[in-house]
Amino acid sequence: MGRHTRLRQVKDPPHNFYFQSENDNSSVGLNIAEFEALRLKHYISLTQKSSADTMGVSQPTFSRILEKAHEKITLALIEGKDIRVYGGTVNLKQDYKGYGCLNCDEEWKDELASKDRHVNCPNCNSKKVYFLVREPL
Ligand SMILES: [Zn+2]
Repeated sequence: MGRHTRLRQVKDPPHNFYFQSENDNSSVGLNIAEFEALRLKHYISLTQKSSADTMGVSQPTFSRILEKAHEKITLALIEGKDIRVYGGTVNLKQDYKGYGCLNCDEEWKDELASKDRHVNCPNCNSKKVYFLVREPL
């Protein structure tokens, strides 16, 4: 079941993905956008512009996501914490479209989501949201 249009997506979900159900002082949590930013920039070595385009965000926004990921991983390295990947209400095991919030880290599913359709975060009402799309495994 091929697709004619290549959608922006999280192509390679983290292997240790799970929903973060409770606070755990011995770990830090990356959201899907932060995981994807690291993968695009440092694993498949896209340029910052290509990385930002792939996620459907501006370069400054991509920089901010990447910076947050760096800070969390640095904290984990310095303080010896586990790194977990979580995605709010986004389920990585299914095809989804959705958004994430830069203000509060919420990520949520929305079948009508698109790069050009902007919504407010349902959690904090921020307009600083990014677009997430992923195809089935
Ligand atoms: Zn929010």
